[in-house]
Amino acid sequence: MSNTATKNKEKLLEIQNLKTYYPVKGGFLRRTIAEVKAVDDVSFVINKGETLGLVGESGCGKSTAGRTILKLLNPTSGKIIFDGKDITNLGGKELRLARKDFQMVFQDPYASLNPKQMVGDIVSEPIRNFTSKSMKDLKLEVLELLQKVGLPEDAYYKYPHEFSGGQRQRIGIARALALKPKLIVADEPVSALDVSVQSQVLNLLKELQNEFDLTYLFIAHDLSVVKHMSDRIGVMYLGNLVEIADKSSLYAEPLHPYTQALISAIPEADPRKRKERIILQGDVPSPVNPPSGCPFHTRCPVARDECSKRKPSLKEVKPGHQVACVLYE
Ligand code: SF4
Repeated sequence: MSNTATKNKEKLLEIQNLKTYYPVKGGFLRRTIAEVKAVDDVSFVINKGETLGLVGESGCGKSTAGRTILKLLNPTSGKIIFDGKDITNLGGKELRLARKDFQMVFQDPYASLNPKQMVGDIVSEPIRNFTSKSMKDLKLEVLELLQKVGLPEDAYYKYPHEFSGGQRQRIGIARALALKPKLIVADEPVSALDVSVQSQVLNLLKELQNEFDLTYLFIAHDLSVVKHMSDRIGVMYLGNLVEIADKSSLYAEPLHPYTQALISAIPEADPRKRKERIILQGDVPSPVNPPSGCPFHTRCPVARDECSKRKPSLKEVKPGHQVACVLYE
């Protein structure tokens, strides 16, 4: 078990019926002609100190969900309750202050760091924005952060281009940690890195979680990576959360046909544990015009007539294991 929090079960973040729709503009007057339902009525909880993994194919809405939670995007409707406070409609100074407690580690360490700033300035910037510490104290704090993420002292005076991909992600992690946040949303934090350095960065995130008592929302498309990192896992498809469970329950007994297909595709070195691969037919439908009923019915290998007529909601079928599928109603 990676941390203490699943035992505490004290909520840090609660998402209630979250929807994030983007307008699609068209025509001569650039009017809104449709909506992309990027996140469509998603609810979940993250407990203090735990890691909730959010997984699904590209375009399933997991990154939009993460950005909406951090208020980098405005939700269309629903509620975001962080540490007991409704932050859904926060703006201006109140939002700026609240942001101290939730930070993001981005997918692309190349794009997320200002190439013209020295690492010392990049990492100290959040602290400078919120405190009036002396230069000496600031530098000491940044050097300590660099050491915590495994970078040498002389990184302070270097520029991002002088580092490898893995080291740049460490800089991004140091910056995210600078204000001692409660929640970090890590959006595909290792998918742009060489496989050889991915596990080093993942292990660093785990060590930092224990040391700083962090809570993670860990977003990734790679189920092996999510399995390594998470206590619980939510599976998203076409803007919907279709299954959520403890890691062990989800991998041992995936219930949703989509989760079963995803898990069947994980490479397994041990031939005795290999499962038959479930190949899904067709592409993910457009979120502008999602299918009626169950969003997965156009690709589901066990769909029934009723699946195109009504949308199943998440139901708890075992303690802590929820699934949205008519087969379990
Ligand atoms: Fe498949 Fe129907 Fe379940 Fe959707 S509701 S996952 S289409 S069986």
